[in-house]
Amino acid sequence: MKIDIFKEMEKHGFEQIIFNYDKTTGLKCIIAIHDTTLGPALGGCRMWPYETEDEALTDAMRLAVGMTYKCAASDNNFGGGKSVIIGDPNKDKSEALFRAFGRFVQMLGGRYYTGTDMGTTGMDFVYASRESDCMTGLPEEFGGSGNTALPTAYGVYKGMKAAARIVFGSASLKGRKIAIQGVGKVGQGVVDHLKEEGAQVIISDISEENINKVKEKYPDVEVVDPDKVYDVECDIFSPCARGGIINDDTIPRFKCKIIAGSANNQLLEPKHGEMVHEKGILYAPDYVINAGGLIQVADELEYKDAGMRRERVLMKTEAIYDILLRIFTRSKEQNIPTSEVADRLAEERIETIGKLKANYVKR
Ligand code: NAD
Repeated sequence: MKIDIFKEMEKHGFEQIIFNYDKTTGLKCIIAIHDTTLGPALGGCRMWPYETEDEALTDAMRLAVGMTYKCAASDNNFGGGKSVIIGDPNKDKSEALFRAFGRFVQMLGGRYYTGTDMGTTGMDFVYASRESDCMTGLPEEFGGSGNTALPTAYGVYKGMKAAARIVFGSASLKGRKIAIQGVGKVGQGVVDHLKEEGAQVIISDISEENINKVKEKYPDVEVVDPDKVYDVECDIFSPCARGGIINDDTIPRFKCKIIAGSANNQLLEPKHGEMVHEKGILYAPDYVINAGGLIQVADELEYKDAGMRRERVLMKTEAIYDILLRIFTRSKEQNIPTSEVADRLAEERIETIGKLKANYVKR
């Protein structure tokens, strides 16, 4: 199947798609810029051995649209974009490849900023940054803001509190039973916040190593089988592993009152947002509650000086609490799924800020 590119761009409101080929390294990469109403496009660079060019293009476009919504909903001044490098991250990486990538990003003159995603690491962008000023999310040793899992976990924790306030009438998580799927970088941070507040934590992971790490720190944490985590009777189910876990099979099994976790693309399809809403479960839209990492990399671009970064990022991440309260309240008032409210709020913000720019201002 060959994609009708202009038709797809028109359908989804894309501004620009750039195909880049470097004859020295063989780099093949696609940069998709969806919407820059709020500011330059921001979105990671994924490296994957895509089987077809269509597959790579579809992935870049889908992810770029997601970034537009995520930036808009989380009060960031960036638009949505994403790039993909066609190649095997285990075999095809080199300094030259990422420098070639950096040069192509630089050619866009600041319309697109990027950093790590699946298949890429901070070090790849240290190389890319030798050719470009538009790299973010670099390791701390290289002047970047470092690990994004910390603010992401903090945002998830704050989001859980907002949801608890709506469902239980109190934001306190003390004594609340919370089941976490996936205790990797983000999940472990969420556990730390919850244990500090005195929540009752249940964890599940396919990695014994990660389970053991948590058990060593908190021996009283309960562990459940990865297949059983959807059936746990709890106040909050927190997906912090992979996407698509809210689907036709899992929704009938859920015995929780809230779903609030860091995983990307939790709803397998948009209709599943409606199904959890009908079941009476309060769902914290993934791209809002997990925006802490994005807030950090955006901060790295906005405030080049490293001073006070950690405190400032955590302060900005706290806004997730209020944003979610707004979403939950509107969902209740208008009886529409929270996933839909989040999309509408993002679209409204883009439209309003876009219209503001109608008045000419010399800067
Ligand atoms: P990670 O790879 O460090 O952790 C994921 C954990 O999930 C691992 O321990 C893995 O073993 C476990 N896992 C995988 N499949 C599982 C299953 N079926 N059942 C139970 N556990 C399973 O990743 P992370 O950085 O902690 O990210 C977690 C999720 O949050 C991902 O979906 C990621 O895209 C999303 N996210 C992460 C960030 C960030 O800053 N790291 C930001 C936004 C969103």
